[in-house]
Amino acid sequence: MDNNGLKKVAVFGSTGSVGRQALDIIRAFPDKFQAAGLAAGNNLKLLKEQINEFRPGMYHSSSRIDYTSKFLPLEEIACSPEIDLIIMAIPGSVGLAPTIAAIRSGKTIALASKEILVMAGEHVFKEALQQQVQILPLDSEHSAIWQCLSGEKSKPEKIFLTASGGPFYNYSHTRLKKVTAEQALCHPTWKMGKKITIDSATLMNKGVETIEAHWFFSLPLESIKILIHPQSIIHSLVEFVDGSMKAQLSATDMRLPIQYALSYPERIANSELPRLDLENMSPLTFKAVNYSKFPCLKLALDAARMGDTYPAVLCAADEIAVELFLSGQIAFTEIAILIEKALEKHTCTKQPSLEEILQADSWARSYVRTQGEAL
Ligand code: MN
Repeated sequence: MDNNGLKKVAVFGSTGSVGRQALDIIRAFPDKFQAAGLAAGNNLKLLKEQINEFRPGMYHSSSRIDYTSKFLPLEEIACSPEIDLIIMAIPGSVGLAPTIAAIRSGKTIALASKEILVMAGEHVFKEALQQQVQILPLDSEHSAIWQCLSGEKSKPEKIFLTASGGPFYNYSHTRLKKVTAEQALCHPTWKMGKKITIDSATLMNKGVETIEAHWFFSLPLESIKILIHPQSIIHSLVEFVDGSMKAQLSATDMRLPIQYALSYPERIANSELPRLDLENMSPLTFKAVNYSKFPCLKLALDAARMGDTYPAVLCAADEIAVELFLSGQIAFTEIAILIEKALEKHTCTKQPSLEEILQADSWARSYVRTQGEAL
C-alpha cells in the first residue's frame, strides 16, 4: 500500500465474471483501490476498454493490444513491486504458476480460481506459510466461513457449505440425460460464468469447494458438510464444539465477498450492494444432498480423499467434459462418465511436484478429449 493508503490491485482474469465485478468495486472506491495490473485471455475488446478506463501500469493478454501500458508475462505482474494484492480469477490451471510466484514475492492473494487449491492446495499453503502471505477467499461460501470464524480462537468442529442445488435438483435421471446447455446455463440464484454454472448444475462445484475449504481452513474432509439451501441466502455455516453455530447471510451478489477481500480487515459501505429484506423474504429451507443423483459430487470427494494427482485429474477432466457438453458433443450425464473414466485410467504420482501436477492435468485433458470424441 502506498502512503495514501491506496491498495494497488492486479486483476487476473479481468474480463471474466469475478474480474469484472472486482473492477466494479475498484471503480466505486478510487481513493482506496487502484487497478494497477490487468490480465485477460481472449476477450481483447473488453480488456482494451478496461485498459482505457483504468490505465493500469501493466497488463497481459493473448496478444499485445496497448502501448500505453507495459505488456508483461503473468509471473512478472504477479511479482511486481507495483502490486499489493492480486485477484486471481483465471480459470483452469493457468493461474497456478503466477499464484506461486506471487506468494514467493510476498503478495496478498484473493483467490477465486478454484483449480489452484484443488490441484495444488498443499503446495500453495506451504509456500504461503513460509512467506507469511495471506490467501483470502473470494468465493461466497469460503468468504462466509472466513467471516464466521473471524475473531474466533477455536477451530470449528464442522463447516456446512450451502448449495442451491442448481437448476436440476429435482430432475429424474432420464430427464437429466436430455438437459441442454441452454437449460444448464440458467442458474436459479447466481449469475456466473459458463463453466461454473455447469459445475453448479452437476454439483461438481460443491465438491471442488469442499476441497478448497479443506485447504483454506485446514480442516479434515470429514468435517466439511454440504447442505442444500435453495434460496442461497445463507452462504455457509460453522459449528463449534459447544454446538453453537454461526452463519453469514447476504443478498446473492458476488461483489460483497469480493469487496470484503479487497477491504479486509475493514468493512466499507457501498450503496450499490443490495440488502436483504428479512421481513419480506421467502422461508429459508435446508435439506440433505442426494449424492447418487449427482455423481460428479461423489467423484470430487473421492478424488479429494485419494489426493496426490487425482484432484488435478478431476479438475482437468471436468473442464474438458464441460467444454464438450457446452459444444453439444456429449450429454449432461456423460460429464460424470468421462471424469470417472479419467480418474480410473490415471496413474497417480505420489507427493507430486508442481510439474508433476501439471503433467497430470495435461494428461487428463487429452484423455478426456479423445474419449469424448469416441462417445
Ligand atoms: Mn461458490
